[in-house]
Amino acid sequence: MTATGYRGRFAPSPTGPLHFGSLVTALASYLEARSRNGQWLVRVEDLDPLRESPEATEHILHSLARHQLHRDGEVRYQSTRLEIYRQLADRLVEQGRAYYCGCSRKELKANEGHHPFHCRSGGPLPPDRPLAIRFALNNENAQWHDRILGTQHQSVRAEVDDPVIIRKEGFVAYQLAVVADDIDQGITDVVRGSDLLETTAQQRQICLALAGTAPGWAHIPVVLNNQGQKLSKQNHAPALDDSQPGQNLWHALCALGQQPPQTLRGDTPARILTWAIEHWSLERIPLQHTREP
Ligand code: GLU
Repeated sequence: MTATGYRGRFAPSPTGPLHFGSLVTALASYLEARSRNGQWLVRVEDLDPLRESPEATEHILHSLARHQLHRDGEVRYQSTRLEIYRQLADRLVEQGRAYYCGCSRKELKANEGHHPFHCRSGGPLPPDRPLAIRFALNNENAQWHDRILGTQHQSVRAEVDDPVIIRKEGFVAYQLAVVADDIDQGITDVVRGSDLLETTAQQRQICLALAGTAPGWAHIPVVLNNQGQKLSKQNHAPALDDSQPGQNLWHALCALGQQPPQTLRGDTPARILTWAIEHWSLERIPLQHTREP
């Protein structure tokens, strides 16, 4: 197989162990990369020490290994790159593409998202308050192509939607770090859950402001539990049973609409993945949400 220029990634935030929904995302990004003879990287987005733990990271990496989702290269940890993200945020401020903001969430809500201290237009910053840094979006009727969902439109309302890139507690925010690393790691294609679809237009603007090339996008449907809620740690999604990797992969392929044969059910991960790479088709992925087994 000759390697192509395709570079994909799985980028979990380690807020808990891998659950069925995150396996579906990992598997989709893995299969898309492997079926295009591309590379598949794993990046741990450990930016929030108050919500994340090293145990969760260990657990996620162990689960990926048990399911034989083998990555290319070393795992990247965002916690080792905080200084780089902060420098990028400073650069955006210097370039007038980001600004310090002292408005609280409550105040913004009361003003329909407009900044009562006029931070964005250079108003005096409120004294004695911790300051966040926000990216200054451009007003835009964004349009882009999603390889699963087709043409997407979003009206980006500058100021009201301006995302935080450095939090007032000093933590680096996801919106900046995810884009910075997709650029730095040369990611050509992002395959991820459709709960992140609405961040795409913002991330594209941040990417261009950082002089990057925006990747291609493919958003897979969110997996719902039997109560119709998104599988997530908040909704107490159970950790994957790592002793059943073949079963889990087979069910994840069903959730992705790939219709694996019954004979593969519970087979070895290696055989299931070989079948899945050969038969992988983005067209078969359901557009709406999908259910856990
Ligand atoms: N770290 C993000 C999450 O776990 C995903 C980032 C991305 O795929 O863009 O929700």
